[in-house]
Amino acid sequence: MKITGLKTAVVEGNFDWTYVRIETDEGISGLGECFFAPGLTRTLHELSRVIVGHDPRDIRSLFRRLQWATSGAGSVAGTIYNAITGIEMALWDLTGKALGVPVYRLLGGLFRDKVRIYADCHAGEGLESLDAVLHSRHASWASSQGDHNQSKSFFEATTDAAIFTPEMYGARAKQMAVLGFTALKFDLDVPSPYGVDAHNRCLSNRQIDYMLSLVAGVRDAVGGGDLDIAVDCHWRLNLSDARKLAAGLEEFRLMWMEDPLPPWSIEEFKQLTRSTLTPIATGENLYLFEGFRPLLERQALSIACPDLQKVGGLNEARRIGDFADSCNIPIAPHNISSPIGTMASVHFCAATPNFLVLEYHASDLPFWDDLLVNMDGPLIRNGYITVPEGPGLGVTLNEEVARKYARSGEPFFE
Ligand code: MG
Repeated sequence: MKITGLKTAVVEGNFDWTYVRIETDEGISGLGECFFAPGLTRTLHELSRVIVGHDPRDIRSLFRRLQWATSGAGSVAGTIYNAITGIEMALWDLTGKALGVPVYRLLGGLFRDKVRIYADCHAGEGLESLDAVLHSRHASWASSQGDHNQSKSFFEATTDAAIFTPEMYGARAKQMAVLGFTALKFDLDVPSPYGVDAHNRCLSNRQIDYMLSLVAGVRDAVGGGDLDIAVDCHWRLNLSDARKLAAGLEEFRLMWMEDPLPPWSIEEFKQLTRSTLTPIATGENLYLFEGFRPLLERQALSIACPDLQKVGGLNEARRIGDFADSCNIPIAPHNISSPIGTMASVHFCAATPNFLVLEYHASDLPFWDDLLVNMDGPLIRNGYITVPEGPGLGVTLNEEVARKYARSGEPFFE
C-alpha cells in the first residue's frame, strides 16, 4: 500500500478545525485533525511530499521522516507539529481501516469502554470563537443575537468587557450538570471588577477574592460532592500570586488549577505544585514527549494535559502517558477539536491506564454532533463517550455538513 496524496479541509467551528485526509493506491484513506495554526493548510500540503509513495502503515518511521524534514528549519516543537500531528492521526485511522481494527486495539487495547468527559464552560458565557491568531470573531454561522457572547478578548480586558458574577458561573454549572457532566472547567482569568493589568502577571488580594467568589458560585450551585471542578488561568500569573490563589482554592478541593504559570516555567511549576493541595495541571502548550519529560521527572505538575491535535500524535501521547504513569501522574488531555479529533483522543484515553478525564470544548456549538454520519443521538451521553468498535477512528465525517460550515478561502478536500 502506498500513499498517493494528501487533502485538507477547514471547518469553522468555535476554532478552525483543520482536517487532513491521506489517500492510498488501494482506495483506503485516513482522516486526522490538527489544532489550528496560522498557515496550517499550506504547511500540510508542503509536508505531503515527504510521505507520498510510502506505506502509510509505517506510522513511526513516517513520523520520523516528517521530523527530519522540518527540524533543519528549527522546528523541534511548535506549530509545525500541529500539522504533523494531524497527519500522524490520519495514518492511525488509515492503518486501523486497513487491518479492520479500531485504533485503541493498535494502542494495546482497552482499560475502559467509555471515556469520561468534562465540559469547558469558559467564563460562564455562551460561545467562544477564536481565529488562528486568537482574535475573537463572530462565527459566520452564529446568529447576531442570542447567547453568542464574543466580547472576551484573549489579550486584554476591554472597557466594555462583561464582568462575570458568581451567580452567572453557578447558573452555567447547573445547566451543564443537568446534561449529565460529572466534571466542569471554568476560566478564572476574566475581567475583574477590580481591574486587570494584562501584562504584569500580578493579582491583588481583591482580585484573588473575586476569583474565589466565582468558584464558590459554582460550588454553591452544584454542591461539593458529585461534580468535579477545574479552573484555568491561561499562563497569566507569577509564582507568588499563583501560590496565594492556589492556597485560597484549597477549600474547594478542585480537580485541578490549570496553567497558572507560563508553559516554560518548570522550576516554578515544581515549587507551586509542592506548595499547595490544589492539583496543578499543565501541558496544552507542550510538544512531544521531550516537552513533558522535564516536568514529569521533577514531579513539577499534578496532572498532565497533552493536546492530541498538536503534541506530535497518538504515539507521542502514548510515550507521555506511559512515562506519566510510571511517575504516578494522571493524564487529562486538552481538547478543543471537532468530533473527529475528539474520537482520536477517546481511543488514546480508553487505552491509557492513568487517564483521568477528557475535555469537551463545544457545548454551545449547534452542529458538533451533526459532523458525524450515522450518529444515533449525541456523541456525549451523561458525560461519557462510548469507545467505538468500527475500524480506525470508528467514526466518519459528514462531508455534506462539514462543507456547509467550511471556512471560506480554504480548499475542501480538493
Ligand atoms: Mg487551558
